[in-house]
Order: sequence, then C-alpha cells, then structure tokens
Amino acid sequence: MPIKGSAAGYGVKDNLGRVTELAECYGASIASLRRMTDSALMTYEKQVGLTGRTVAPVVYLAIGISGAVHHIAGMEGSGIVIAINPDKDAPIFEYADYGIVEEF
Ligand SMILES: Cc1cc2nc3c(=O)[nH]c(=O)nc-3n(C[C@H](O)[C@H](O)[C@H](O)COP(=O)(O)OP(=O)(O)OC[C@H]3O[C@@H](n4cnc5c(N)ncnc54)[C@H](O)[C@@H]3O)c2cc1C
Repeated sequence: MPIKGSAAGYGVKDNLGRVTELAECYGASIASLRRMTDSALMTYEKQVGLTGRTVAPVVYLAIGISGAVHHIAGMEGSGIVIAINPDKDAPIFEYADYGIVEEF
C-alpha cells in the first residue's frame, strides 16, 4: 500500500463507488476487510488483517469498519488513522487519531 490508504469495511458495502472516488481524490489505494472478501465484494489480495496483508501507510482512512482485532492486526503500524463510523462506540475509534461519527 502506498503512503495513503483507504479501507472499505462492510458498513459501506453498498457505497464502494463513493469510497473509490474519495480515494482517487487524495491518491490513496483501497484496502478491504475480510467480510468484504468473504462476500466477494472485494478481492482477497486487498484484504488487510490477520489473514490478509499487513500495511503501514502514513495515512489510513478507515471507512465503515468496526475495528475488530483481526483487522487491527494488519494496520496498527499505520501513521495517522482517521475513522468514519456512525457508531460512536465502535472499537475503531480506540485506534483512530481522528474520528468522524457519521454515516459515510
Ligand atoms: C480467525 C479470523 C481471522 C480474521 N481475519 C481477518 C482479516 O484478516 N481481516 C479482517 O478485516 N477481518 C478478519 N476477520 C474478521 C473480523 O473478526 C471482523 O469480522 C471483520 O474485520 C469485520 O469487518 P467490518 O469492520 O468491515 O464489518 P462489521 O464488523 O460488520 O462493521 C461494519 C461497521 O460499519 C459501520 N457502518 C454502518 N453503516 C455505515 C455507514 N453508512 N458509514 C460508515 N460506517 C457504517 C457500523 O457501525 C460497523 O461498525 C477474521 C476473523 C477471524 C475469526
């Protein structure tokens, strides 16, 4: 993954086009979560986590991701983590430097 990354979780499974648009705007690659891979919404090669790849971009934008330990294991070396999730209690906010409590 290049220095900027976006990761699309199951919460934005119906909105992947918008995630892609945003990533293109700021020159980021897109990562996936296992739920997305298991649902055949994204390919395994993009999966980040315990059973996927390990990444450490300077900026990691986590969109629609709950923050399961299995996912965190693959991105915890990232620099600045920004999370977007409407659930203020989502575990991802424990890892995020910046959090946006909103639907994407
Ligand atoms: C042995 C094992 C290995 C695993 N390996 C991996 C792995 O390598 N990688 C991995 O990712 N997972 C892995 N998992 C699965 C992991 O435990 C989680 O199930 C998975 O990471 C959850 O994915 P998620 O956050 O996309 O989905 P969910 O947990 O379903 O979270 C979706 C989130 O989206 C939010 N949301 C809903 N609507 C919106 C919206 N409109 N805008 C923004 N947010 C919204 C919800 O509030 C929720 O927090 C593994 C599990 C096991 C048991």
